[in-house]
Amino acid sequence: MTDYTDNKYSELFKNQKSQHLQVGNTTYKERIKKLKNLKVALEKTYKQELRDALYKDFKKPTLETDLTEIYPVIDEINFVKKHLKSWLKRQKVDTPISLLGSSSWIKNESKGVCLIISPWNFPVNLTFGPLVSAIAAGNTVILKPSEMTPHTSKVMSKIVSALFNENEIALVEGEVEVSQELLKLPFNHIFFTGSPQVGKIVMKSAAEHLTSVTLELGGKSPAIIDDSSNLDKAVKKIIFGKFLNAGQTCIAPDYLFINENIKPQFVNSFKKQLNEFYTENVSNSNSFGRIVNKKHFDRLRGYLEDAKSRNAEIAIGGTSEEKDNFIEPTLVFNAEEDSELMQNEIFGPILPVKTYTSISRVLEDINSREKPLALYIFSKNKKVIGEIINNTRAGSTCINHNLLQFLNHNLPFGGANNSGIGKSHGYFGFLEFTNQRSVLKQHTLSAVDLLTPPYSSFKQKLVDLTIKWF
Ligand code: NAD
Repeated sequence: MTDYTDNKYSELFKNQKSQHLQVGNTTYKERIKKLKNLKVALEKTYKQELRDALYKDFKKPTLETDLTEIYPVIDEINFVKKHLKSWLKRQKVDTPISLLGSSSWIKNESKGVCLIISPWNFPVNLTFGPLVSAIAAGNTVILKPSEMTPHTSKVMSKIVSALFNENEIALVEGEVEVSQELLKLPFNHIFFTGSPQVGKIVMKSAAEHLTSVTLELGGKSPAIIDDSSNLDKAVKKIIFGKFLNAGQTCIAPDYLFINENIKPQFVNSFKKQLNEFYTENVSNSNSFGRIVNKKHFDRLRGYLEDAKSRNAEIAIGGTSEEKDNFIEPTLVFNAEEDSELMQNEIFGPILPVKTYTSISRVLEDINSREKPLALYIFSKNKKVIGEIINNTRAGSTCINHNLLQFLNHNLPFGGANNSGIGKSHGYFGFLEFTNQRSVLKQHTLSAVDLLTPPYSSFKQKLVDLTIKWF
C-alpha cells in the first residue's frame, strides 16, 4: 500500500478513491445528467460570470470567450450525449477457432481517480473539456486549473462545488505547489495540458506510481503558404488563427513559410487585413486581447529585442504598451535560426516569416525540429500538399485553414512526442479515461484443456497442428 497520508490532499484523494467503483458503475443516463447540468451552468447560469472573469484575467473579448471557451465544451457535451450509450456497450469481438467454445468482449470501464491539470490560455475549455470525457468514462476527478487566470479559476470552482459532491469531482485552486503536491498521489490517470517542459515533470511524477498520462503539449507549429494559394484568403485565415487570444493558442501558427515570389504582395495583404480586423490602432480594438501577465509580456518583448539586435526586419508592428501587457500584432522577416523567436514556442502575437524557393528546404527545416502539434498548408496544388504531408510528422494538419481541426470531435486531438502523448476529444478523449478490459468467457470444454500436463508425444502433435493450421 502506498503511504501518502502526509499529503495535504490525501483526505480528498482517499475519499474519491473510496467512491470510484460506485461512480464507475453509474449508468450512461446518470452520466448524461451530470453533463447536462454542466451544460446549463456554462450556457446559462455562469456564462456572464465566466465572460467577466476572462476579461478581468486578460481582456479576452466576449465573442472569443463564447466561441473558444464555452462553445467547444457544450459541443463536446452534445457529442458525448449522442454516442455515450454505444461507447459503454459491451463490445463483442471475434474469437479465434483455436479458442473454440468461448466468447470475448471489451468492457469500457472507468480508470478510477483522475487528475486534470490545465493551462491558463483557454482555461474553461481546457479544464472542462477533459472533464466531460472523464465524467463520460465514469471517473472521479480532481481538477487543478492554472494560477495565472485566478478570476476564471474562482468561477470554475464555484461551478464545480455547485454541481458535484467533492468526493466525486473537486477543483483545487492555488499556485504551482498545489500541482506538485497533487502529483505525489497515486492517481489512476493524469490528463495534463501545458508546456513540454512541465509535461516532463508530470510524466516523471506519474512514473512513480505507473500512472497513465495524457500530455497535451505545445511547441512550434509551422504554416506554409504556397504560391498556388489564394493569397488574400490565406492571409486572412492566418491572421485570424495567429492573433486570436493575442496569439496565446497552442495550435496557432508559430512561424510561417511563404514562397519568395510573393513577399511584397504578402506584406501588403497582411497590412490591409490587419487594419480590417483591428483598425490602425490595434490597442483600441475590442477584438484583440492582452498578454496574460507581466512575465509573459517581458518574455515576448525580450524575443523582439533579441530579433532586432540581430538585424531582423520588423515588417509590421513591433510596438508594445506595458501598462496593460499589450503587444501589437507583429510580422518579422529574417529572424536568425538561433534567435529566441526561432528557438522557442512564441505564444504571443509575433509571427516570424521565412521565405523559400523550394519545398524540399521547407521540409528539411520542419524535420530538423521537434514534431509540431499542428502543421498548416495553404495550397491549391495537390502534389505539394501530398509531398508536405507524406514527408513530415505532426499531431494534426489543417489544409487551407488553421485551428479548425480542433473543432471536429470525430478527429483525435493531440501531439506527437514533444508536442504530446495521447489524444483528446470525442471517443478518443473518452478512451484516454477508460480502461479497456478484455473479457473472455469459456462456455464449453476448451481445446486448451487437452494440452495440460503431463505432456506427451500426442499432445506435442496437437501443438504442432495448432501452430501449422490455426
Ligand atoms: P505550463 O506548463 O506552464 O502550466 C500548465 C499547468 O501546469 C498549470 O496549471 C500550472 O500550474 C502547472 N505547473 C506549472 N509548473 C509546474 C510544475 N513545476 N509542477 C507541476 N505543475 C506545474 O503551461 P501554461 O503556461 O499554462 O500554458 C502554455 C503551454 O501550454 C504552451 O506550451 C502551450 O502550447 C501549451 N498548451 C497546449 C495545449 C494542447 O491542447 N496541446 C493547449 C493549451 C496550451
